[in-house]
Parts: sequence; structure tokens; C-alpha cells
Amino acid sequence: MTINKLFSGKKLIDSLRDAIFKETLPDKTYRIMEVCGTHTMAAAKYGIPSIIPSNIQLVSGPGCPVCVTSQADIDNCIELAADKRVTVATFGDMMRVVGSGGNSLYQAKAAGADVRTVYSPLDLIKMAREQKSRSFVFIAVGFETTAPMAAGLVKTAHAEGIRNISILSLCKTMPQVFDMLLKDNEIKINGFFCPGNVTVITGLSIYKPLMDAGMAAVVTGFEPADLLSAILEVIRQVNSEKFSVVNNYRRAAHELGNVKANTLTYEVFEPSDARWRGFGLLPSSGLSVREKYEAYDAFKLFGINRFREEKPTPCRCGDILKGRITPKECPMFGKTCTPENAAGPCMVSSEGSCAAYYKYSARGGG
Ligand code: SF4
Repeated sequence: MTINKLFSGKKLIDSLRDAIFKETLPDKTYRIMEVCGTHTMAAAKYGIPSIIPSNIQLVSGPGCPVCVTSQADIDNCIELAADKRVTVATFGDMMRVVGSGGNSLYQAKAAGADVRTVYSPLDLIKMAREQKSRSFVFIAVGFETTAPMAAGLVKTAHAEGIRNISILSLCKTMPQVFDMLLKDNEIKINGFFCPGNVTVITGLSIYKPLMDAGMAAVVTGFEPADLLSAILEVIRQVNSEKFSVVNNYRRAAHELGNVKANTLTYEVFEPSDARWRGFGLLPSSGLSVREKYEAYDAFKLFGINRFREEKPTPCRCGDILKGRITPKECPMFGKTCTPENAAGPCMVSSEGSCAAYYKYSARGGG
């Protein structure tokens, strides 16, 4: 019988919370990074910070794909949308992120650009078949979890001889950003909530460097009991100074991940340098379309500069994604930056920390 069946609902939550209070040492500060934006949103939604000891700090991490998309890349997307020959398609959260000119894809659409929201990259196949004279570009953002879907679009278009589709791959991979976090002495993280959805694809091996650096790495789901049990695991590892990678999300994630999905990704893409908001240019942290499929690479087709210069912005998303500040420490939070009038992606995205704090702060979410 699983632990969830032994204790149901409130009883399970209470027992985990009691165990956390019992294990937490009062003279220690425990800083846990929620790598995934969905963890940030879930912790805020369920008011987790308000029911755990105050010396356990949950800080945001770089796992919101829209948030880590650089402003220079957003500028590229908006400029591409202005091309009258092109239909740009992407996931909904990308629509309202503003570029350096203060405009978003949503505003480009309002000004007449053909910008469409899709739920799956494969939606472009039907569009491209129906309007053969237009060029359809999928703006692909995401990590190891979504890269196979973008790869699937390229493979399908190639197999079916469809040539009016391409992708602007802004996809990124996690190990390189972990490296960067481990080198940053200012962050002082004791443990990580590792993203369950990424682990489903990658497997557990990508977290070994965290363990080797003396940090707890707990793969976890998104329910209150998942989050509390991950906190308990981190506290226990920190107190015992015995660190390991623990998979608390066995219902979906397995040791080796999804080999088929990974193979599909790397058949279409190859590692390339990529710019992350807040982190700058990280070597081999992006996924570019391989030469074999270059007819589907929007960077090449439209002569887009992958490494255009980033302009300065007052938005502090970069510091939030590194766990250096919380959203409430941004002077614009809730004043000049709100979900209705967002100045940065962390307030726009459904996985954004600022959006989570704004929405759930009354529940003790932030
Ligand atoms: S509150 Fe707005 S401006 Fe400040 S970091 Fe968040 S998104 Fe950026």
C-alpha cells in the first residue's frame, strides 16, 4: 500500500508538516530552489511557505521556459512577426512578453501581423497545407520536455514534403544552467526541487552534479504532499550532510527517462550556445536545427541573428530566475508591473514567479 493510501488528505499533510518541524534545526537556514516554474506556482497556490518553519526559504529557479527566453530573442520574434510573408505561431504565454521596444507579439497581432496561438506544434501542419503560399514559423520555447514536440514537427513536415514550415528554436537544456548555478557563490542553495516533467524525459543522471556539489536533489511532483515530502527530504539530507538524488515522482519519472523522446530531439537538433535571461550566453545550452533539416531552420531561412545584443531592462526577472531576489523585492512588483500590464515575463507566464506571488500572496504564497 502506498503512503498516499495509508494517509489521506489533511492527515498526510499534517504528518509531513509535523515531520518537517521536528527535523528543522532552528539555527540553520535552508534554501531550496524550485527549479520548475510549475513548482513555484504550486507552492504559492497551496500556501506552502506559510505552513513551514520560517528558516526554510523557497526560492525561484530557471525552469520557466518563457521567463528564461532572452529579451533579444523576444525582439527577434516580434520583428519576424512583422514580415508580411510570415505567420508566426507559438504557445499562449509567449504572446504578452514585451521586447525592448515595449511591444509584444500580442500587440504585433493587434497591429495586423499574423500571429497565432497553438496548443501543439503539429497544429502548423494543417495550417501549412491549407495556405501553401504562406510561410509558417513555430517559435519553439521550452526544455527537454517540449523539444521532442518541436522535433516531431520538423520530422513530420520533412516526411510529408511540406516546405512552408520552419521553427525558430529557442529550446534550452537544463544541465548547463545547473553548472552556472553551482558556480554562483551568491545564491547559497542547499537543495533543489528538480522538475518532474523534465525528468520524465531526461531521467535522473542530469542531477548528479548537484549531489556531487553537496546539495540535495529531489525530483518531485506538484501536489501539496509532493512538495512537503520533498522539503522533508532536503532537510534530512542537509542535516545528515549525506547528499543524493531522490526520485519522489516515481509515478511518472524513471531512472533512464524517455529514450525514444530524447533520440527524436537529438535527431533533429544539436547542442548550441544560447542566451538565457539573467544568465547570459551559456555554452551548449540551446538546441539548434541540424544541417540535415536546415530547410526548416527559421534562423537560417530569415537571416535572424541568434546572438543579437541584449538591451538593458529595469525588469528583475533575471535575478529572480537565479534565486537572488524574490518578486516582492522588485520595485515594480504590483505597482508598474501587474498581470494586466506586465513589464517582464515572470509576471506574464503561467509558470512565472511574479505571477504566482501576485496571484497567491493572500494565501501566504510569497
Ligand atoms: S515584477 Fe515585473 S518587472 Fe519586476 S521582476 Fe517581475 S516581471 Fe520583472
